[in-house]
Amino acid sequence: MGRMDDKVAIISGGARGMGAEEVRLFAREGAKVVFGDILDELGQQVEADCRAEGLDVAYAHLDVTSEDDWRAIVALAEERYGKLDALVNNAGISISVEGGARNISLEDTSVEQWDRVMDINSKGVFLGTRAAIPAMRRAGGGSIINISSIAGMTGAWSRSHPYNASKGAVRLFTKATAVQHAREGIRANSVHPGPIMTPMSESTYADPEVAAQRLALVPLGRRAHPIEVAYGVLYLASDEASFVTGAELVIDGGCIAQ
Ligand code: NAD
Repeated sequence: MGRMDDKVAIISGGARGMGAEEVRLFAREGAKVVFGDILDELGQQVEADCRAEGLDVAYAHLDVTSEDDWRAIVALAEERYGKLDALVNNAGISISVEGGARNISLEDTSVEQWDRVMDINSKGVFLGTRAAIPAMRRAGGGSIINISSIAGMTGAWSRSHPYNASKGAVRLFTKATAVQHAREGIRANSVHPGPIMTPMSESTYADPEVAAQRLALVPLGRRAHPIEVAYGVLYLASDEASFVTGAELVIDGGCIAQ
């Protein structure tokens, strides 16, 4: 018995990092998984690897800022697998990746950077949720998991202001969704990872000075593997979390407990 048997899930940003880990974990636990990304080659590789393992997954191009792409991927899930039970809004960007290891100050932040981060990290979650709700209603309920960050709860982990703002928006958008759709059996929760070993954070931790400074702030003294977040996301997506909605799951090695 898998923890996601008979469930159909959509995961955004599933071509690499935490999203790819969630695709594999959900499918290994019995879910049928439709996942999307803008990195099509990587996404198709994840799809091929999963299928070689006997897992039932389908990759589709998905730019989370596109209403049309969201409409298409929800339709794909319903046409191919008959319904939609879970949505993981995982896709996200951090502008400091392009700006190198250092934090970007408020005064160095351009309007274009602000708009891009807010579009992908916040508007993308809104568009995904809005597209998924009617399908979840047709399925008789569902679970939405929005990947925020500890940077959505405190300014201490700021690498760029728009990143904090976008992740803070995700945190409260999730609660509004939870409250509004609870009576339809649709749950919504946010996940707040601390430092995780994914391509997004590589440039930061490649700088030994920055890495040492950051790891000194982590009580468990290390970065996490993506699977350590994926298990939390899996719990929230599964029926094990049937009374959990509007909650914040912090997976951060103790960072914000200090
Ligand atoms: P990652 O860069 O490895 O993966 C993010 C994925 O999102 C990539 O595959 C990327 O192509 C995709 N993506 C970017 N823009 C997109 C768009 N417009 N449409 C669709 N897909 C798009 O990073 P990750 O660390 O795995 O990040 C996953 C989530 O976790 C993000 O929301 C990130 O903000 C959040 N997060 C990461 C950390 C960390 O330390 N790595 C910590 C807290 C929160």
